[in-house]
Amino acid sequence: MAGGGMGVIVAVDGPAGSGKSSVSRAAARRLGYGFLDTGAAYRALAWAVLDRGEDPDDPAAVERVLSAIDVDTAIDPDERWVRVDGIDVTGEIRESRVTGAVSGIARVQAVRQRLNEGFRARLAAAEPGVVVEGRDITTVVAPDADVRVLLTADPEVRAARRARELPGERRQDVARAIAERDAKDSRVVDFLEAADGVATLDSTELDFDGTVDALVGLVREGATAR
Ligand code: C5P
Repeated sequence: MAGGGMGVIVAVDGPAGSGKSSVSRAAARRLGYGFLDTGAAYRALAWAVLDRGEDPDDPAAVERVLSAIDVDTAIDPDERWVRVDGIDVTGEIRESRVTGAVSGIARVQAVRQRLNEGFRARLAAAEPGVVVEGRDITTVVAPDADVRVLLTADPEVRAARRARELPGERRQDVARAIAERDAKDSRVVDFLEAADGVATLDSTELDFDGTVDALVGLVREGATAR
């Protein structure tokens, strides 16, 4: 088990708009586990880089900002806060200017390594378990997790779901933004194909509750071919 902790670790990855975050949060609630949204930490760093007027595509600047800040995210699935140096940035990190900057900062390997150390420490401390989600969770952050799941859905379905979450934006723009972000992110980590031992959960034909049921079912079965 990752980190040698006693808690159950459920690792979920997958592309933008697959429902990773909301499905993982709901499954954590049902299981009485913690919930760790790793994308929130990347977004918080992107927010801080922009807030300081630094260039998100300049690795040295991004590393400098990361060294200077303290990022904290909720672990209770009923809470949603994200803080940078104690400042609440929960809403701002979802704005499109931050979403547009985050792939750039996520490309920096030194940044990934540092954030991953923080994630692993939190997983090791989680009791009685934690659902952790992000692009590289089943492969890089927690390859020894008890349950590893790739949550996916057809691209059109992902775009439609994301568009519903962003009522002010046009469906085509959302679809294009998702496709671009997946393309950029997949140069860094492969989250479109399940790695060995990772169960695939395709939610194309499932509604939200059906997807949560399926994930909870995989956890209860102790999923993952290991
Ligand atoms: O999941 P979310 O959309 O909040 O993630 C925002 C961005 O953070 C992703 O597009 C990706 O660039 C980066 N990310 C990552 N690895 C993770 C989580 C997020 O590279 N584990």
